[in-house]
Amino acid sequence: MAETQGILMPLIQSECQILKNYRDRGGYEAAKKALSMTPDEVIQEVQASNLRGLGGAGFPTGRKWAFVPKNSPKPVYLVVNCDESEPGTFKDKYIITKATHALIEGIIIASYAIGAHTAYIYIRGEYVRQAEVLEQAIQEAYDNGILGKKVLGKDYALDVYVHRGAGAYICGEETALLESLEGKKGWPRMKPPFPAIEGLFRCPTIVNNVETLSYVPFIIKNGARWFAEMGTERSGGMRLYCVSGHVNKPGVYELPVTTTLREIIYEHAGGVPGNKKIKAVVPGGSSSPPLRPEELDVPAEFDALMKLGTMAGSGGIIVMDEDTCLLEILTVTTHFYHHESCGQCTPCREGTGWMDKILHRMLHGEGRIEDVDHLEEIANGIMGNTICPLGDAAAMPVLGYLKRFREEFESHALYKKCFDGEFAELKAAS
Ligand code: SF4
Repeated sequence: MAETQGILMPLIQSECQILKNYRDRGGYEAAKKALSMTPDEVIQEVQASNLRGLGGAGFPTGRKWAFVPKNSPKPVYLVVNCDESEPGTFKDKYIITKATHALIEGIIIASYAIGAHTAYIYIRGEYVRQAEVLEQAIQEAYDNGILGKKVLGKDYALDVYVHRGAGAYICGEETALLESLEGKKGWPRMKPPFPAIEGLFRCPTIVNNVETLSYVPFIIKNGARWFAEMGTERSGGMRLYCVSGHVNKPGVYELPVTTTLREIIYEHAGGVPGNKKIKAVVPGGSSSPPLRPEELDVPAEFDALMKLGTMAGSGGIIVMDEDTCLLEILTVTTHFYHHESCGQCTPCREGTGWMDKILHRMLHGEGRIEDVDHLEEIANGIMGNTICPLGDAAAMPVLGYLKRFREEFESHALYKKCFDGEFAELKAAS
């Protein structure tokens, strides 16, 4: 069988949750190399690679590491965000079950770079099997001198712990995650201070996503330039795209960040079943505003998608064919964010509930044309006015669907049905 192309995919294919398989592929050589460098040199290498945070925010990883104060009198922590909960996103699950040792090696390198001797992996409660695999791989690493008092025989100590969450979406937000890890209710904190200054147990903490950390060993092994050259001026390398919805081959695809949405959908995910037309594509998890079919020639990358007013986010691409009811999609999406709101701040707590109620009413044939404007008004009242990004995550889809597909919602409000292309005539006749 031909080997899968990519960086992490060949590891996933080779069952690198088993140490021997990972070592056969050169595993832990990068960590040895990193431990022979200074922490600053490691940070500079990761900075030069243009690796961005692949959990959704896209913040440059090396720059984030550099925020940790030097010679802090407090302990420094690395926390791995493995609370993968954004609808449409399922890539970290593959890494932790099949490329587990790449993640552990990334944790070693990152911890060394920021001066941490303790790392926590916060994994969502629903990932029961994945947590077991992680625990086994970590134990195997301890048994083989890869973790513990002398990491890989070097004068550097690191302990890694797995902490299981209880299934709240909000705990994927880094400060809510830290609260939960401290044993408290998962309520986001006001920022600043940012976690790099005051994070877990009020100590300097870096929170990184699973996929982000798993690329780090390859950057150290092959050099920053190798990774940077695969991408754009500001985003290096490849990433894992999760493709779901109306495609013939849903799944996870690892591709350079310069790949367009059209190529991902038609060449890798096999196009739309029944050769139907696409109505809308959500490019980066359910909180990212959707795109129209004529906009798919854009690279699925942070900056390019931001220029179109949407996000690369978590890499969760959701394809909707021409028969999809976008009112139904937005209703389900909004209901999710309302349900997951922690309730701490009024615009999010109340606003998501109001939008949820209006959309449900419209879906059940009781919409009014003024509902469309009200939805927009409420979403604008949430945007930028909340403690954490969940408020924006709920408001952005509402604003995004209304911006690009307003006729669908007006059609439901006026005629209790999806837009069928005859809206102008219907409106004129009404
Ligand atoms: Fe909680 Fe929503 Fe406020 Fe975030 S935005 S703190 S989820 S109420």
